[in-house]
Amino acid sequence: MHIDRIDIVHVAMPLVYPFRTAYGEDWSVEGVLVRLCSGGLYGWGEATPLAAPAYSPEAALTQFVVAREFVAPRLLGQDIPSGDDLQAQLACIKGNYFAKAAFDLAWWDLHAKERGEPLWRLLGGERTTVEAGADFGVLDSIDDLVAVVGTALEQGYPRVKLKFRPGWELDMLSSVREAYPNARLHVDCNSAYTLDDLAMLRELDRFGLAMIEQPLAHDDLIDHAALQKELATPVCLDESITSPAKARKAAQIGACGWVNVKPGRVGGLTQAKAVHDVCRAAGLPCWVGGMLESAVGAHHCLALATLPNMRYPSDLFPSTRFYARDLGAPSMHHSAPGQFKVPDVPGAGCEPEPEMLAQCTKQRATLSA
Ligand code: MG
Repeated sequence: MHIDRIDIVHVAMPLVYPFRTAYGEDWSVEGVLVRLCSGGLYGWGEATPLAAPAYSPEAALTQFVVAREFVAPRLLGQDIPSGDDLQAQLACIKGNYFAKAAFDLAWWDLHAKERGEPLWRLLGGERTTVEAGADFGVLDSIDDLVAVVGTALEQGYPRVKLKFRPGWELDMLSSVREAYPNARLHVDCNSAYTLDDLAMLRELDRFGLAMIEQPLAHDDLIDHAALQKELATPVCLDESITSPAKARKAAQIGACGWVNVKPGRVGGLTQAKAVHDVCRAAGLPCWVGGMLESAVGAHHCLALATLPNMRYPSDLFPSTRFYARDLGAPSMHHSAPGQFKVPDVPGAGCEPEPEMLAQCTKQRATLSA
């Protein structure tokens, strides 16, 4: 596939309310959208590292610049026959996973359109319906949280994820667990703790959680392995797993019982599939996380969630959960409570809606061969 034109767009998508986690508060989701063109066809990709380098060392602004200055020039005018070839072209660029991911996702959308096949099938997916969970950040009060968790469970969400950070931890969790003794729950710490917090983290075992997501540093494996030995509850790694090699090492030292796979964090769908395959071989189950992508990136996550070793409900949401109007069309809709159906069209099945893309654009660049 010969890449003859590349468009890169830095966007800020306003949220209907702020998303609060251990690393701060976001009022909009910043990301990078990439369009790769080949002949008369094109494919779209999206990566949303957010505005600040707080979830990871990467941020939307830096990823836009890396995309324009370093990634795009390595792909423009090239024949890229596979995702592995694309990754090989970009291997000399260290880190900058989100920038690489936007291109990798666009390549997969373009490739699937060229083949006339839905993306999920080309990736090796085995199901057409995907389960999705509910996810709650830090709210104004614990009472507010207990109420919205109750609504989510009534609506049929198969599991609830709670953000967990200093000041919003054991009291919050006790209240939710007391109100819903049988609900499938897990907490996401977004790397807010260290092994000095071991006594508090040990207490989590009494809440019957499905997992504890990324309790320790964003780039750590060793301390997580030490922590996992102390806990009955499985640890899930998110931030720490940036490559298939990291997944292999985590499995080797027993750093976790689950891996959250996000295409943006690992450099694209090619790498996300490789992480999935490494974990599957090691007997480590996975699930698909999210970065509040628009429907464009969410459709790629949906395709990824059809793979066989994705064994826990994904962080996929109806567009209305975060956005007054989604940047992508079609937007994300439940097919049944807590479920999404994969689209049966060539490609990922979603692209930016031009008017929304124009409204959300901060800056853009176009390169032509
Ligand atoms: Mg997480």
